[in-house]
Amino acid sequence: MTACSIHGCVGTYETREITHTVHPAGDLVVIDHVPAQVCNICGDVLLEPDTVRGLERLLENRNAPTRTAPVYEYDDCLAG
Ligand SMILES: [Zn+2]
Repeated sequence: MTACSIHGCVGTYETREITHTVHPAGDLVVIDHVPAQVCNICGDVLLEPDTVRGLERLLENRNAPTRTAPVYEYDDCLAG
């Protein structure tokens, strides 16, 4: 197991699948089930170089998404 790289954190990274969000040009793109190393204490996320390349390919191609999700702004819950 790899020790967390965040200064002062005593956690270690474990393999998990995360929901990765990116904001290309103000847009919102969500990629689900992305393999990542996640610190079990502070939640710091590391992506393998291969994973980063895969994400870049996805964003370049921008094929039709597997599924879509509703997106809400937190501010909207304050207005109601
Ligand atoms: Zn940590």
